[in-house]
Amino acid sequence: MSKETFSQKQTPMIQQYLDIKSEYPEILLFYRMGDFYELFFDDAKKASKLLDLTLTSRGKNSDNPIPMAGVPFHSLENYLIKLIKLGESIAICEQLGISGSNKGPMERKVTKVITPGTLTDECFLNEQNENLIACVSYRNKRYALATIELSTAQFNISEYDTLNALQSSLIKNFPTEVLYEENFPNPDLFASSISVKKLSSYKFNIDNCLFILNKHFKTNNLDGFGFSSKHAAISSAAVLLEYVKNCQKSTLDHIKTIKVSHQDDYIILDADTRKHLELTLNTKENGKNTLYSCINKTQTAMGARLLKKLIHEPIRDTQLLNLKLNCVAELIQKDLFNDIANELNHVFDIERIISRIALKSVTPRDVIKLKTTLQKIPTLQNILNNTTSNDLKKVSLLSDTYKSIVERISSILVENPPSTVRDGNFVLEGFNQELDEWRALSKNVDAYVANYEKEEKKKYSIDSLKVNYNKVHGFFIQISKAQAVKAPSHYIRKQTLKNYERYTVEALAEYEEKLIKSKTEILNLEKKIWFELVDTLYKKLEELQDIAKILSLIDVHNSNAISAIENSYTRPTFTDENILSIKNGRHPVVEKSLDSTFSPNNTNFDETIKMMIITGPNMGGKSTYMRQTALITLMAHIGSYVPAESCKVGPIDRIFTRIGASDDLSSGKSTFMVEMTETANILNNATKSSLVLLDEIGRGTSTYDGLSIAWATSEYLMEKSQPLTMFATHYYELTNLEAQFKKIKNFHFDAVEQINDIAFNHKIKVGSTSRSFGISVARLAGLPSAVIESAKQKILALEKEQGDPYVSLNQTNKSDSELELNKLEKKIQSIDLNNTTPLESLNFLKQLQNKNY
Ligand code: ADP
Repeated sequence: MSKETFSQKQTPMIQQYLDIKSEYPEILLFYRMGDFYELFFDDAKKASKLLDLTLTSRGKNSDNPIPMAGVPFHSLENYLIKLIKLGESIAICEQLGISGSNKGPMERKVTKVITPGTLTDECFLNEQNENLIACVSYRNKRYALATIELSTAQFNISEYDTLNALQSSLIKNFPTEVLYEENFPNPDLFASSISVKKLSSYKFNIDNCLFILNKHFKTNNLDGFGFSSKHAAISSAAVLLEYVKNCQKSTLDHIKTIKVSHQDDYIILDADTRKHLELTLNTKENGKNTLYSCINKTQTAMGARLLKKLIHEPIRDTQLLNLKLNCVAELIQKDLFNDIANELNHVFDIERIISRIALKSVTPRDVIKLKTTLQKIPTLQNILNNTTSNDLKKVSLLSDTYKSIVERISSILVENPPSTVRDGNFVLEGFNQELDEWRALSKNVDAYVANYEKEEKKKYSIDSLKVNYNKVHGFFIQISKAQAVKAPSHYIRKQTLKNYERYTVEALAEYEEKLIKSKTEILNLEKKIWFELVDTLYKKLEELQDIAKILSLIDVHNSNAISAIENSYTRPTFTDENILSIKNGRHPVVEKSLDSTFSPNNTNFDETIKMMIITGPNMGGKSTYMRQTALITLMAHIGSYVPAESCKVGPIDRIFTRIGASDDLSSGKSTFMVEMTETANILNNATKSSLVLLDEIGRGTSTYDGLSIAWATSEYLMEKSQPLTMFATHYYELTNLEAQFKKIKNFHFDAVEQINDIAFNHKIKVGSTSRSFGISVARLAGLPSAVIESAKQKILALEKEQGDPYVSLNQTNKSDSELELNKLEKKIQSIDLNNTTPLESLNFLKQLQNKNY
C-alpha cells in the first residue's frame, strides 16, 4: 500500500498525526491528546522499550490496530529527561484549538523540538557544565567546528588545518550533540557523543549559508566577524544556527554575535595533554583531584563554567592576562575576596535565566532569582567602590537599568511564586485593579453568602433560610417546610425534601456565573501581565547579558584570589624571552593530597637549557615534577596565581605530553603504537615556544629499539625546533646527550636506601643518577622476597656480562612477575618425568608451593 493510500484509510486524527510525523521522521513525536502525550506506530514501540511504557493499540478491533503508548502530560518532564540522557530527540506537538469548536481534529502543531544539545530548562542541565551542540564541516582542506551553548547564548566558530586539531577541540568542548555533513571524511570522530546527526550536503551550500548568517546578524558581509572567507566555518555556523532555530521554533534573537576563535589565541592542549594533566577530569574520568577541583573557589554556576572553560583554553595574550592578574592582586591587597564571596553566594545562574527569557521559556521563579541577583549589585558596588582594575571597576560603572528591572519585578511578582505560569498565583495584590476585583470575588464567597443569607432572612422574616451550595444546583436557598409559604415569588423551586424546600434565585445564579468567570479571568489576566513582564525583560537582554558576564568574571577573579591566599600562590610574570623560570614550584594537586610536606623544586629553561634529561628511581618524583611545571605554566595563562615562590614565563604556544601510555583497546592501538603516535605529533608540531613533557619513550618495544627511538627523538628536537623539553627516562644512555648538545642538561632525583626501606627526598638535582633503585622500589611494592633475591642475582650477572649497570630490568622489557614465571617454567622443565617417583613429584610440588625455586 502506498503511503498516501495508507494515510487516506486512517481516521482524520491519525491522518493529521501522519502529516505532522512526516516532518519529523527520525525523532520521537509526542502528540498531545487531552491529558496525555501519545506516541504511535514505531515511535510507540521504541518509546515503550526505552521508557518502560505499556504498549497498547488504537482501534483494537479494526483490521489494523495502531501501536500506541502514552505519558500523562504532567509527568512529561521526567520522561523527557530519560530520553535525552539516552541521546534521543523529541518533537512536542501541542493542541492549539479548543475541543469540539470545529469539525475534524483539533488544530495541532509542533511547538518545540528538544534535542540533547539544545536544552535550556534547569531540570535538564548540569549547572557546572556547558551543554553544547556542535556542527562540523570540511571545506577547502580545512575543518570547522561551530558550537552553540543555547542556555547562555554563546556562539563560537573555529577552523583547523588538521584532523588532530579538530579532534582536540571536540574533546575540549565535549558537545552533547554533533551535526556533520554527510560526506565528512571522518565520522568515527564523533563516536563518543551521545547524539550524532548526519545532515544532507545541500544544507552546507555556501551562498545559502552566507545568506543565513547575514540575515541573522543583520549584516551585509561577515568581515566584521573576521571569517568572511572561511567557507568551512561559514557553512558549519549557518547550518548549526538554522538547526537550533528550527528546534526552538525561535528566531534566537539573544544570540547577538559569533566569536571566532583563532588557534593562536590560546595555548594548544592536545586531547592527550588534557587527559594526562588531569585538568577537569582525572584518569578515572571523574572530577576529583583535578586542577579544577583544586583551584575552584567560585560561588556561582556561571563562574564555575567560566573557570572550567579557561582551564581548557589558556590565553596567550599576556596583556590580557596581566589585566586579569591585576584584579586578583587588588582583591588580595584590599582584602575584599571574602566579602565578595559572601555576596556572590546569593547570585543565581542568571546567564541561563536570561537565555530562557530570550526563548520565552522563563518561569516566575526564574524571574525572582534574577531579581535577587540584581539586588546584590549595590552591595557589590559598595565593596568594589574604590577598585581600579579593569573588570572590578565594571561593576560600579553599570548603568542603573538594573534598578528599574528590579522595581518592575518587585511591583509585579510575589516573593515565592510557583514554578510554572500554568496555574497563575504569581501576580502581587495591588498591581492590577481588575485582577484584584476578580480575586476579591472568588476570595469573598463565604462572606458574600453569609451576608446574602442574613439580608434575605431579614427581608422576608424567614429565620430557617439558609444559602447552600451543591454540584447539581450550584447556589440555592433552603427553607424549612413550615416557613416555605413565606418564600417570595421570584424564588424558583428546584427540589422538595422531607423537611425542606430548595429554591434558586437569579441573583445567586448571576453571582455563581461571575465566580466561574473569575477563575478564567484571573488566569488570563495573570498570563497577560506575565507576558508583558517577559517582554520588558526581553528588551533588556543585552544589559542583562552584560551583568551576567561581569558577575562571572568577578567570580573567577575572586576564586583565583581565594585559592592564592589559601594555598600560598604567587603572581606569575610574563616575558618575551623564550624562558621558563620557576622557583620552588609545587604540584597544586599533589601538595594537597600529601600527609607529609611537599618538596618544592625549581625549573629553569633559558637560552642555555632547552632540554632536561631527568633520571632517577621510580617513585622519585619525576612525573610530579614535570606535570607541576606544565600546570604552573597553564595556571599562569588563565590569570591565576601559581604554586611557586616566583614564576616567569616566556611565550608558550602549546603544551605537549607523552606520559605513561596504556593500551588504547577501544581503537585497537597497542601501547607502543599510542606512544609513537603521540611522539610523532610532538616532532611534527613542536616549536621553540612549546613545552614538551616526555615521560619515557619506547617502553613498549625492545630495549635497543626504544633507546634508539628516544635518542633520535631528542636529537631531532634539539636540531630542529628546540622546544622546552623535559624528558624523564630510565635509559641511562640518554644522559650522554649532554655531551653532544650544549642545551641539554642532565638532572636527577635520587633516594637513600635504608635497611628495609628506601627514602625519597623528591628533590631535583643537577647531573645524572649514580644508580638505579628499581629493586628497592619493587620490594616496597611487596614483590615476593624470592623474586627480589633472584633479581639481585640477575643484576650482578648482567653487570658482569655487559659491564653496564644501567641496563636495568626496566629496560629488558620484562616485568618482574614475568621473570618469576620464567624461573618457574625452567624449574618445571628441569624434571625428568621418566625418572621421578610419585613421592618425589609430591615433594617437588610442595617446593613450588613454597616458591622454593
Ligand atoms: P616517578 O614519576 O619518579 O615514578 P612520581 O612523580 O610519580 O614519581 O612520584 C611518586 C609519589 O611521590 C607521588 O605520588 C607523591 O606522593 C610523591 N612525590 C612526588 N614528588 C613529590 C614532592 N616534590 N614532594 C613530596 N612528595 C612527592
